[in-house]
Amino acid sequence: MDIFQKCYDFRDADEVKQAGLYSYFRMISSAQEPVVMMNGREVVMLGSNNYLGLTNHPEVKKAAQEAVAKYGTGCAGSRFLNGTLDIHVQLEEKLAQFMRKEAALTFSTGFQVNLGTVSCLVERGDIVYLDKLDHACIIDGARLGFGTVVKYEHNDVADLDRRLSLKDPSRGALVVVDGVFSMEGDIVNLPGLVEVCQKHGARLMVDNAHGIGVLGEHGRGTAEHFGLEDKVDLIMGTFSKSLASVGGFIAGEERVINWIKHRARSLIFSAAPPPASVAAVLKAVEIIEREPERRAKLWENTAFMKRELANLGFDTGDSQTPVIPVVVGEDRLAFFMAKRLEEEGVFVNPVISPAVPPGRALLRTSYMATHTREHLERALAAFAKVGREVGLIP
Ligand code: PMP
Repeated sequence: MDIFQKCYDFRDADEVKQAGLYSYFRMISSAQEPVVMMNGREVVMLGSNNYLGLTNHPEVKKAAQEAVAKYGTGCAGSRFLNGTLDIHVQLEEKLAQFMRKEAALTFSTGFQVNLGTVSCLVERGDIVYLDKLDHACIIDGARLGFGTVVKYEHNDVADLDRRLSLKDPSRGALVVVDGVFSMEGDIVNLPGLVEVCQKHGARLMVDNAHGIGVLGEHGRGTAEHFGLEDKVDLIMGTFSKSLASVGGFIAGEERVINWIKHRARSLIFSAAPPPASVAAVLKAVEIIEREPERRAKLWENTAFMKRELANLGFDTGDSQTPVIPVVVGEDRLAFFMAKRLEEEGVFVNPVISPAVPPGRALLRTSYMATHTREHLERALAAFAKVGREVGLIP
């Protein structure tokens, strides 16, 4: 049997492509701004995680350029060996202070943070508890560990409580959740989780990817939103959304971070985040602290779109954040609408199973502080037109 046979037989994407509905790996030839260039046309971007609009900010770009001038384009090695620059350490100190934790550790992607952290903490005999809708990299990190993986129903604290009650007290337990669920934009029930974790002596790790810069008075994310920063043992964050770069971090107790630093294989055996990326994050954090009005604008845009999409008759699920799904049901309808919306000048991401439950395909929309009312109204007009064409709204 040829191991490539499955590749030759794989036709899923071909069918969608032949129907002209393929909407992945689309080419953009400009910055991640509220309006992007696609095939020489301007398209309103409702598919970027650039929540605060910092990826094209002049100060952030200048910081990145200056870092290239000083340190060059790459670190040519792992943080563990030759790849740790003074700005990595400076960023870790800044992030620890920002997240109000003893220490922080930066990795080259958010994916690698979860992969390395979860896998090195969950050893043989330990149990890791995951929300069914946790991000893929949390699930993969749990799979890579040598412990047992237990999944509980989405955001169902009673189900987690029941499962933790069955645990042998001699086994270590880690609960890992998304603070904001990435596809539907709902916020985790953190107060409930904290209570259940304390009751059973389980440690709690929250993925703050979509919370940083977005939630909480100072933009520190989900734990700040609930006033529970000191009750979350480990806070993970990525640089690829509000922080306008690429990379990620884990923050927590110094002794725990020290363990991860010497055990996480995705850190030790992978090259360090490049200088430009690190310098961009340092500047982005500074701007987040200095300009809370960006977050206020993001929430104003979010409230407007949630209200107007619902007024048009769309189902926007349980979104409580700038990630707003438009639930359409069937996969093919999601592909068709994404394509039609692009023709009408709007970029959205079609999301199908397994990223969402089967039959709950959706168009994931997300907003930026830098969208103007005019951009949003243009998008709504396209949604109204396409929604009516397919009979999804009256
Ligand atoms: N966690 C969540 C919840 C995410 O949405 C993502 C990115 N989509 C990641 C982790 C991975 O982060 P990165 O893109 O920095 O690898």
